[in-house]
Amino acid sequence: MTSAPLRAPGGFPVVGIIGGGQLARMSAPPAVGLAVTLSVLAESDTAAAALVVPSSPVGDHTSVDDVVAFARRCDVVTFDHEHVPSEVIRAVQAAGVTVEPRPAALVHAQDKLVMRRRLTDLGIPCPRWAQVRTRDELEAFGAEVGWPVVLKTPRGGYDGKGVRLVASADEAQDWLDAAAEQVAAGEGGLSDGLLAEQAVHFTRELAVLVARSRSGQAAVWPVVETVQVDGICTEVLAPAPDLDDTLSSLVAEAALRIAGELDVTGVMAVELFETREVGADGAQRPAYVVNELAMRPHNSGHWTIDGSVTSQFEQHLRAVLDLPLGSTRSRARWTVMGNVLGGDHPELYRTYLHLMARDPEMKFHLYGKDVRPGRKIGHVDVSGDDLDDLRERARHACDYLQGVVTE
Ligand code: ADP
Repeated sequence: MTSAPLRAPGGFPVVGIIGGGQLARMSAPPAVGLAVTLSVLAESDTAAAALVVPSSPVGDHTSVDDVVAFARRCDVVTFDHEHVPSEVIRAVQAAGVTVEPRPAALVHAQDKLVMRRRLTDLGIPCPRWAQVRTRDELEAFGAEVGWPVVLKTPRGGYDGKGVRLVASADEAQDWLDAAAEQVAAGEGGLSDGLLAEQAVHFTRELAVLVARSRSGQAAVWPVVETVQVDGICTEVLAPAPDLDDTLSSLVAEAALRIAGELDVTGVMAVELFETREVGADGAQRPAYVVNELAMRPHNSGHWTIDGSVTSQFEQHLRAVLDLPLGSTRSRARWTVMGNVLGGDHPELYRTYLHLMARDPEMKFHLYGKDVRPGRKIGHVDVSGDDLDDLRERARHACDYLQGVVTE
């Protein structure tokens, strides 16, 4: 481990982020602006954040020793991802270091069964769901809600890994076997079984981002549409086009309520499915169910870097430091964020020559990550008044960066 990070004179704090991915990396610019020292517990010295944050000791986020040693040099510790075990976080708290969000809140982003149970208790709309430990339980749930059923591993999933659409219990036998073993052993990510959900017929996927400070101030950004291809978000439209006003308010209220009830500190993303329901008058109206929660800056909020008065990364720092929150007002009528996935471009840097000349309004955010096919390696943001035009331009830039088009 390296020596203690340097603090700016004037009482500025040190914020530690566990995990050195792109979220920690994108926290660096606002930290510089605020003169807050950032320190990152990185997976390796070539992790996305380690390349730009001078204080990036390498350590294992599942090791109490590594994480506590790291945390002792910070005033507050927060997260780049959800995979830090609760016992490690509790050890950091026991060492007297503030951790935000706290484990009792964070567990709802770590464990989808815990999340479903709590949101259902709060009366927040969710897909119909069941905890499934055995084949019989899955068959009973499938018979009740109809096949196919969406089956999820409660812990450790991302980008659609750990989510499966199954047409029968046979198709889930490998997961059921693994769950049976872990339930019996009382340990492992499946020790509480699997989460089964009704396959929701949604019209589109939405997300709403909220920030809440330790003392309870909260702010919400406009609801966005997230466009997914093969379980990976490719595009975010901010705000969600043609969103019903009532639904927009309901969703914002739900996000604020979840943040308050769960005592969340920092940024939380609520991923949602937009659905249609039939009202008492027989008319259809738009509705929603919650898919999942993330308690950290989130891909659905990358547009805020260029499209909002306060970016999610600055807001997260403010929230975990218990500073007053910034305005979440949009800077433009529309902002489109396009995710850049790994392609086969040999020299990514050279793409700037063409893309920057073609579109001087476009903002580029590449993460310095090794390029692997399908991996999120960066994003672009573009703002303006004509949504179709912005989408076309963002799509082109992403395709060019991925080597899908060459001009
Ligand atoms: P991850 O944790 O990998 O992000 P999610 O729970 O968000 O997993 O699921 C990934 C994708 O699978 C969602 O974006 C959605 O497209 C689809 N999905 C998840 N749950 C359901 C459901 N109950 N009904 C229909 N589609 C679903």
